[in-house]
Formats: sequence, C-alpha cells, structure tokens
Amino acid sequence: MAGHRASRVTRRDVMKSMAGALALSAAGHRSRALAASGQGWNTIVVGAGVFGAWTAWHLRRLGQRVLLLDASGPANMRASSGDESRMTRTIYGADDVYTRMAWDSLGDWRWLSLRSGLPIFHPIGVLMFFGRREPFALQSMEAHRRMGLRLDVLERPELLRRYPQIAWDGVEFGLLEPDLGPLMARRAVQTLVSEYVAAGGEYRLAAVLPPPGGAALDGVRTVAGETLRAERYVFACGPWLPKLFPSLLGNRIFPTRQEVFFFAPEAGDDRFEPHRLPGWADFNDGDIYYGFPNLESRGFKIAHDRHGPRVDPDSEDRNDRHVSPAGLENIRAYLVRRFPALATRPLVGMRVCQYENSSNGDLLIDRHPDWSNVVLVGAGSGHGFKHGPAVGRYAADLLTGRLARVEPRFSVTSKGESQHREVH
Ligand SMILES: Cc1cc2nc3c(=O)[nH]c(=O)nc-3n(C[C@H](O)[C@H](O)[C@H](O)COP(=O)(O)OP(=O)(O)OC[C@H]3O[C@@H](n4cnc5c(N)ncnc54)[C@H](O)[C@@H]3O)c2cc1C
Repeated sequence: MAGHRASRVTRRDVMKSMAGALALSAAGHRSRALAASGQGWNTIVVGAGVFGAWTAWHLRRLGQRVLLLDASGPANMRASSGDESRMTRTIYGADDVYTRMAWDSLGDWRWLSLRSGLPIFHPIGVLMFFGRREPFALQSMEAHRRMGLRLDVLERPELLRRYPQIAWDGVEFGLLEPDLGPLMARRAVQTLVSEYVAAGGEYRLAAVLPPPGGAALDGVRTVAGETLRAERYVFACGPWLPKLFPSLLGNRIFPTRQEVFFFAPEAGDDRFEPHRLPGWADFNDGDIYYGFPNLESRGFKIAHDRHGPRVDPDSEDRNDRHVSPAGLENIRAYLVRRFPALATRPLVGMRVCQYENSSNGDLLIDRHPDWSNVVLVGAGSGHGFKHGPAVGRYAADLLTGRLARVEPRFSVTSKGESQHREVH
C-alpha cells in the first residue's frame, strides 16, 4: 500500500460551513421582510440544478437578495442533477484544477449531509481500477502526493482479497480514495434549496424565455408573461443553456443522451451492499464504466461513460426517456465480464438524462461576453456534480467582483466548437 496521509476534511471545515449557515439564518429574517416589501433582488439565478443552487446559496451568504428560478423544480427528473446518485472523486489525472475543486467541495457536502434527515454524502470510498500503469493513473498518484491527499494503491492480489465479487481479469491495480464516496444527488440539491430559502433566499417555479439580443440585459421574461428584474443575472440551465443562448453556446455545449441502469442483487446477497463495495470506476483503456453498490437499496447502479448521441433535452421527453435495447445489451455484456453474479439479475430501474459537454470537458463559468451583469454557469460534461459547492463559490465571487484569480479554462472563449474530450 502506497499513498499519503489524508489532509482530511476536518470538523473545522464542517463547522466553518455551519457558522456561515447560522449567519445566513439570521440574515434570512431581514431578507424575507425585504422581499415581502416588494424591493428588488440583487441577483436572479435561472436554473436550480446543482450549479444554480450552490451559486444562489453562496450569493445569499454574501448578503445578496437572491431570486432562484427553475422551470420544473430543483433537481427535477429531467435535469442532469435529478438522478439518484453522483460520484465524488479527486482522481483527475493531471487536471489539478478539478482535483482541488472536488476536494474543496467536500466540506460543504459534509455540512449539507448533516443538515439532512437522511445522508447526502456516503463516505464509503471510491475505487478506480486500471489494466496497466496508465498515464492518467500515474498523474493522479503524483497529484495526490503533491497535494497531500490520501490515495491508496491496491495491487491485484489486494483487489482479489478485498473484493472477490468482482472478476479482476486484465486488471493490474486500483486506486482507492477512502475519504470519498457517492452523493445523493436529488436529495442534495433539494435540501440545499430548502436551506437557502430558510436563510432568506427566494425560490420560484418559472420558465424563463431566451433573452433577446441588445446592449444590456435588464430583465428576464417568463413563459407566464412576467418580467423579473435584478441588478445581475446568472444562467445555470445545464443542457438547456444552448437553447437560451443559441448564437453563443449553440455550438459550444453539446448535450448528449446518457443511460443509467439499476440491477437488483439476489435476495440476501450482501456482496453489493455499501459496506462491501465502494463506488467504483473501471478505466478500461479510457472507455470507462462506473457505478455504485446497492445504495439505500435502490439497486446496483451502472453506466457507460461514453457520450451518447447529441440531443435536445426536450426531445428526450417525446421518447419517454426509455433506455435503448443496445445500451442494455452493452451493460449486460459488461456485467458478464466484471460482475458475473449480477449478469442475469433483474433490471429494476433505468434513467435517461443528459450530459452537457464542452468541447474538452472543461466547465463554463464566465461573464457573458456582451453583458457584464450576466454570468453563465454550466458544461458539467458528465463530471460536474461533485464540484457544485466550489462552482457556486467561484460564480458568486465572479459576479460580485471578488474573484482573486480567473481560471482561463472556465472561459467562454476557451470552448471549442468540435468535441475532443480530454477531462475525465
Ligand atoms: C448519467 C450521468 C452521470 C453523471 N455522473 C456524475 C458523477 O458521477 N459525478 C459528477 O460529479 N457528475 C456527474 N454527472 C454530471 C452532473 O450530473 C452534471 O454536471 C450536473 O448535474 C449539471 O448540473 P447543472 O446545474 O449544470 O444542470 P441541471 O441539473 O440540468 O440544472 C439545470 C436546471 O435549469 C433549469 N432550466 C433550464 N432551462 C430553464 C429555463 N428556461 N427557465 C428556468 N429554468 C430552466 C432546468 O429545469 C434544470 O433544473 C453525471 C451526469 C449524468 C447525466
């Protein structure tokens, strides 16, 4: 076993988040009074997925009067954040920026988990395994060493000993992040929006129309015919961003169809329960499969991390969001190879949602090039959820002019118009 002592998320980190929340709660009473008195908002945030919700939360924490809007509800079932579970991990190859953001977000996730009646963060560990000493794995090990984060290297005999329920053919070693684990995605966002409202933030169900062109944005119009005004605006509309800003983002964000499957382990079989199996990802020469144990008895979750076909998220509704026979066949074939005890188990759940990919997988957090009072947040690119707290903090600081350093990789101009995925 190699690796380093964890720079663990400490009780102090969680306490820091809690102290912020208590200050907010006091501010909440003042803010509710202001909202009731019909005074305007400092910021309107459009989209209550993980990015919009954390942005609204951080803005509120900075003392702003914030209105958060969503067309279909926080982390609704059509949104990318509306799924059951999402993985946190700090393994990002040489992309230190994401290792850091994932780690920096953990304290907030732990705090949120404590606020919820049921857990939001399950610290059961995350295991990524490899057929060989891939550059991605070696770079991840080096990044963890440099940053002082714990990462355990499990050679094949150790994998066989610890996880006999997995067929380890062709696997040389694994990297285990014992401090990480899955997040309960929908519960997380909905709990956060409740906390934000309790702290004096305002939330409304409203669908916003694409903003017209012009020299400045001085309001958003809703489908119901209302015009809502604030000093500043954030658009965090996930896979719908290209529909709201077609000329700017139509070719820069590529929503793709993604399928997720849940299988029921055999009755009485505990090998796929969270105490026996961490969150896992099979690097598989870059053609990644990943999943979770039987979290909260929802079933063993598995997905293929390959971009599906490009979609308009609204057109998915016309197909009733059913998984494809080819997708199911591919997953069954993988189970035969890697999780044989599950290969013939019943499919007990499925979900079709969408990635909103930038050209290379980098996030988008930047001012609108024409409107200095507008910030665009999105392009989660299949890995964004875990970064939600750090993304929200960055977006809030950018909007309010507090950002110490702009990350060029998050800019609109860094986004190409053809896909060549680099960030995993
Ligand atoms: C299958 C799958 C697996 C994934 N796995 C992981 C993982 O393991 N780990 C990880 O970190 N990330 C993962 N991701 C990525 C992560 O889920 C996304 O990056 C993240 O949820 C994106 O959040 P968002 O807030 O940008 O978008 P969304 O969650 O889609 O939120 C956008 C919101 O905007 C609202 N909206 C849109 N248009 C309008 C409008 N006109 N007016 C008002 N509201 C509007 C929508 O209703 C929606 O609620 C995965 C994604 C998918 C699809």
